[in-house]
Amino acid sequence: MAIQIYNTMSRRKENFEPLNPPNVTIYNCGPTVYDRFHIGNARNFIFMDMVRRWLEYRGFTVRFVQNLTDIDDKIINRARAEELDFRAITGRYTAAYFEDAGRLGVRPADVHPKATEHIGDIVKLIQRLIDRGLAYEAGGSVYFSVKSFKPYGKLSGRKTEDLLEGARVEVSAEKRDAADFALWKAAKPGEPKWDSPWGPGRPGWHIECSAMAMVELGETIDIHAGGIDLSFPHHENEIAQSEGATGKPFARYWMHNGFLNIDSEKMSKSLGNFLRADQILERWPAAAVRHFLLSGHYRSPLDLSENAMEDSASAVKRIQDGIETAEKLLELVSGKTTDGETDETRELRERVETAMDDDFNTPRALAVLFDAVGLIHETRKQVEGDGEERLAAIGRLSALLAFVREFAEFFGLTASIGASTADKLVEPLMQLLIETRALARKRKAFDVADMIRDRLADIGISLEDHPQGTIWKRKE
Ligand code: AMP
Ligand code: ZN
Repeated sequence: MAIQIYNTMSRRKENFEPLNPPNVTIYNCGPTVYDRFHIGNARNFIFMDMVRRWLEYRGFTVRFVQNLTDIDDKIINRARAEELDFRAITGRYTAAYFEDAGRLGVRPADVHPKATEHIGDIVKLIQRLIDRGLAYEAGGSVYFSVKSFKPYGKLSGRKTEDLLEGARVEVSAEKRDAADFALWKAAKPGEPKWDSPWGPGRPGWHIECSAMAMVELGETIDIHAGGIDLSFPHHENEIAQSEGATGKPFARYWMHNGFLNIDSEKMSKSLGNFLRADQILERWPAAAVRHFLLSGHYRSPLDLSENAMEDSASAVKRIQDGIETAEKLLELVSGKTTDGETDETRELRERVETAMDDDFNTPRALAVLFDAVGLIHETRKQVEGDGEERLAAIGRLSALLAFVREFAEFFGLTASIGASTADKLVEPLMQLLIETRALARKRKAFDVADMIRDRLADIGISLEDHPQGTIWKRKE
């Protein structure tokens, strides 16, 4: 069965057929680097990174591009407020993007093109649109003439009249039509500016994506993505610019994630109801944040709450405990694990694949992962039995462990996601304590052995002695 993707353009799920298989090109509209991003933005970054990984899992070679908008009004305003050059602002928040995204387990894209590094490409594209009669110059600015592009509105189903109420549309006396939008903005005093055939100025927001997508990925791309708020007017304008210039379809599949809400309202900078990624990471482990963001289907709205985060934190803990328990038990009973699959794990894998191929149904895929963790606990008891049953159980547990580990890593739910160096030291230090206690007991220094056990209990760690050795656990 092919992968099915819901295409905003056709409003239905379609079989995914890239233009040049096995290659896939993806353009995801990235952040405006004027502040640290919030976890509504993170929903898009994490989800699209996971789409990229799933296509790779399915054997495609993906080229993933996510731009950085490094010149726009919000950046200029922030630079003014801090009395800094705008590059000091974009430099700071570009670094912050990579830091926070990295902590959340989001891989960097293959390319992160910046608007300011593609001014030449942007100017060329604008010129092409003027030459084709789709754009006009007025007072040193250039506008796209929406009326000249007949299919305008085909993505969102919205009319040009709606544009007037659309986000980020400026009113200007220079426009021939109120719905027209700026491709090039004439420089105002004190603003950053670049030379152009129309005088000094800077690019509009929409044109940068059309120009950079074309340069990095070609005139027709496979998947274009962003949050649902970008479908209109941003993506509609991108289509008008790109298809207006090339006469070719711009993107074959349009994917839009739903909003992350807080108290049923979209999380956004302008509403002030946002929680930045770095803030939520102070409270919750990265794996829990990822679990929460992937726990709903990407096209549905998702509501952030204390309860939802608590549920996600205990969900990832259950997975991590399952992995840890199986690892330690297998090490004790056989000293090694095999990666062979069993009928059971093959069936589990098929269920994950069916869920993910069906328009990236992460909640269904995660449910399978939890079923597998349940089976680990079921198998545990058999492993501690004896005879032939025990040998079969070791094979079964090994396969389940490999399965859970693979998909916990795939979804970024393991303890090592965003883990600090200190976190990574816990396991080797615990092994040292366990060995020291074993040695103390062997030498009949029971007071030392008991002290180790009691002091660990004080900090919430329990030791479990088995005939084959000792394993440790964090207490519930
Ligand atoms: P921006 O920096 O505002 O252009 O946003 C970067 C990405 O995050 C875009 O794809 C937006 O559509 C997306 N986004 C912004 N707010 C939310 C939200 N509350 N929920 C989900 N996605 C969002
Ligand atoms: Zn864009």
